[in-house]
Amino acid sequence: MKKSLMAGFVLILALTLIISGMLNAFVFNKELIEDTKQELLSYASVISKEYDPSLDTDIQAKNFAGDIDNVRVTIIAADGTVLGDSAADYKAMKNHSDRPEIIEASITGKGSSVRNSETLGKKLVYSAVKTSDGYFIRATKEVSGVWDSLKSIIPAMILVIVIALILASVLTGRFTSGFITPIVEMNNSLISVKDGGIQLNPKAYRYAELEDMAVKINALSAHLSKYIATIQHEKDKLNYILDNVSEGFLLLDEKKNVLLINDAACGYLKCTKASIGENILYATRNYDFIQRADRAISEKKRLSFDLALGGKLIETVFTYVGEESGVEAALIITMSDVTESRNAVKIRREFFSNASHELKTPITSIKGSAELLCSDLQIPDKQRKELLARIGLETERMNLLINDIIMISRMESGELSGECEEVDISSVIHESINELVPLAERESVTINTDISPVTIYANRKDIRELVSNLLVNAVKYNKQWGAVDVSLFEQNGQAILSVRNDGEPIPPEHQRRVFERFYRVDSGRSKAVGGTGLGLAIVKHVVDTLGGTITLESNAENGTTFTVKLPLSEKQ
Ligand code: ADP
Repeated sequence: MKKSLMAGFVLILALTLIISGMLNAFVFNKELIEDTKQELLSYASVISKEYDPSLDTDIQAKNFAGDIDNVRVTIIAADGTVLGDSAADYKAMKNHSDRPEIIEASITGKGSSVRNSETLGKKLVYSAVKTSDGYFIRATKEVSGVWDSLKSIIPAMILVIVIALILASVLTGRFTSGFITPIVEMNNSLISVKDGGIQLNPKAYRYAELEDMAVKINALSAHLSKYIATIQHEKDKLNYILDNVSEGFLLLDEKKNVLLINDAACGYLKCTKASIGENILYATRNYDFIQRADRAISEKKRLSFDLALGGKLIETVFTYVGEESGVEAALIITMSDVTESRNAVKIRREFFSNASHELKTPITSIKGSAELLCSDLQIPDKQRKELLARIGLETERMNLLINDIIMISRMESGELSGECEEVDISSVIHESINELVPLAERESVTINTDISPVTIYANRKDIRELVSNLLVNAVKYNKQWGAVDVSLFEQNGQAILSVRNDGEPIPPEHQRRVFERFYRVDSGRSKAVGGTGLGLAIVKHVVDTLGGTITLESNAENGTTFTVKLPLSEKQ
C-alpha cells in the first residue's frame, strides 16, 4: 500500500508538473504574441511618421529594419502592391491587399495577424499601420510556437520532476507511515478479535480521526471477544451435554450434510466428529439409514424405526423441521439403544405365554375332576377320593407355580424383597435342610453338610429362595439312597456355597440353558417331582442381583454340583 501510494503521489505530481508546464507555455506564448503585436504596431506607427514616399521605398524599408533587431519592414501601396521590403525582393512579392493585417488596417488604421510566412516559411507576427497618405507600413517579427516555448522549459521541468520525486518519496514515506501503520495495526486487531483482539494505543496515532477509530476498534474488540467467548461457552456447554447423553444426536441439513453429531451417534454409526460438515455418506454407509433420511426429507415427515447396528437394536427417530423464521430446514435424528427394553418385552411376552401354558395343565385337570365330581353320576368312593386327591395335588402345583411366577416377576421388576440385613447363610441352610428332611427321608437321600458360618449383607428371603431351590433340586433330582453334599465357607472375601447331588447328570447341551425360565431337561420328571421350571431362574436372578456367580458341573462320575460365589459386601 505504501509503495502504491508513493507511486500514485509521484505520478500525480509529475502529471501536474507536465500539464502546468504546458499551460504555462501556452499562456506565455499567447502573451508573447500579443506583446509582439503591440511592439510591432509601435514600430510601424513610428516608421509611418518617418516614411517619405518621394524617396526610394525599398531602401527606406531596409534602413528602418536596420534600426530594429529582427524586425522586417514592408511598405505597401494603398492597392496592396509591395513597394519595398527589408528581407525579400519586393518585386517578386504578390499583391498584399488580401493580407488580414492590411485589410484590418485599411478599415481601422491598424491591424495584426499571426501566420506562417509563405516567403520565409516561419511563424510570424504581422502588424500594419496605415499612413496618412494611404500607404501601409508593416512590421513583421518571427515568434516561437508553443512547442518551441515548451522545448525551452523541458530541462527545467525535468529538473523539477526529479527534485519532486525525491521530495515526494521522502514526504510520502513520512506521511504514509503516519496512517498506514495505524491501519495495519487496526487490521491485525480486527483479525485477532476472536482471540480478544490486539489492544491498540490510540494516543500513539498522529491523526485525530485514526485515534478515534482506534478507540472504537478497542471497544468493539472487547465487546466482540466477550460476545464470541459467550457463544463459544454456550457451544461448549451444548456439546458437553450432547456428548454426555446416552442417546445419539445428529443434525443434518436438507442436503444431508452433517451439522452436528454427538459422541453417542458417532459410536452407533462408527464414525468420528470429523464428519461434521461432510455428507452423511462419510459418516455411515448404512443404506437403510440413508434411504430413510432421504424419505424423511422428501416427505417432510417424522419417521421412527429400529435399526440393527453392531449387534444392538437402535431406535432411530427422524424428525423433519421445516424452514421457519430464518432458521434453515433440518433433519433432527435421535438414536437410542433399545436392545434391552425390546428384549425385555420379548422375554415378558414369552414368559406370559409359558406361564399361561404351565397353568393350563393343572387348571384343565382340576376342571375335569371337579366336573366329574359335580355330575349326577354315581361315583364310587375310591374314585371320588382319587379325584379329590388330584384336585389337591394340582392345586398345590398351581400354588407353587404361581408363587414362583410372583417371585420372578417381583425380581424382574426390580422390586426389593424387603430390607437387607446381615444374613448368616449357614443358618438359612440349616432352616432349609430341616424343612427338607421329610422329603429326603421319603426319597432315602442323605444330606451331608460341611458348613462354616458366613455372613453377607442381603435380603434374608432372597437367600432363602436361593438356598432352598438348590437344596430341593438336589433332593428332587437325586437317586434313591443317593447323597447331597452341602458346603459353605469363606474364601477371598467371598461366600462359597456348593451343593452336590447324585443322580442323573444334566447333559452338556442342557447345562447352559437350565437357568432359563420354564426350561426343563426332562419335563415329565420335573412335573412328577413338582417342578415349575423356574427354580434355577430364581436362583440365577438372586445371584446376579447380589453381584455373584453361579457355575454348574454335571457328569456321571461326580453327579451334579452347583457352586455359588457371593461377595461379602459391607453394610451400606
Ligand atoms: P424345576 O422346577 O423343573 O426343577 P429348575 O429351574 O429348578 O426347574 O431346574 C431346571 C431343570 O434343571 C430341571 O428340570 C432339571 O431337569 C435340572 N436340574 C436342576 N437341578 C438339578 C440337580 N440338582 N440335579 C439334576 N438336574 C437338575
